[in-house]
Amino acid sequence: MSKLVVISGPSGAGKGTVVKELLNIYKNNNDKVHLSVSATTRSPREGEIDKVNYYFIKEKEFLDKLKNNEFLEYNQYGTGKYYGTLKSHVFEYLDKGYDVILEIDINGYKQVINNYKDALGIFITTPSLKVLEQRLRDRGTETEEQIEKRLKTAKDELKNKDIYPYIIINEDGKSFEAAEKVYKIIKK
Ligand code: 5GP
Repeated sequence: MSKLVVISGPSGAGKGTVVKELLNIYKNNNDKVHLSVSATTRSPREGEIDKVNYYFIKEKEFLDKLKNNEFLEYNQYGTGKYYGTLKSHVFEYLDKGYDVILEIDINGYKQVINNYKDALGIFITTPSLKVLEQRLRDRGTETEEQIEKRLKTAKDELKNKDIYPYIIINEDGKSFEAAEKVYKIIKK
């Protein structure tokens, strides 16, 4: 049976890389997987394609869908923009026999399990908070203030990680191994 998999973890834990490796593992096994495409009310950035990166929709359409209970989960961020996972999108792929991967935060995961109790939650993190901090600094893409903010969010997320049935440690340079563990958990 196809599975709905939620992957969460603090920014800097290498979630994106693990998900990329995971999709490759599926491909190499001739196994069906789909990375969910969210809906958002923000404008596309340069190079982003509608229905590939996001379903770019107007706020009115988003709010209408919200009222009609069409989202599996959603959030509105500080920017005022909405982001959400459409039930129709996820179930279209599950029905076709694909495992569907959602890369969302803890808040989203809580909403998903309320709506769909068979969802499988996997939390990806670093061996320690120190490693996480080092990775954020090594990226060199953020200001000190942004790093501090991300670390604070990460600490809050780590406090809640036990709501996930599976926690995977992504050690430095071992994202493939972490992805293999995730694949095994999904296929168990
Ligand atoms: P961005 O605008 O940079 O693409 O994304 C902004 C934030 O929205 C990121 O933290 C991203 O993880 C989050 N996000 C993207 N899609 C969804 C979604 O479907 N649901 C939720 N809850 N957050 C999302």
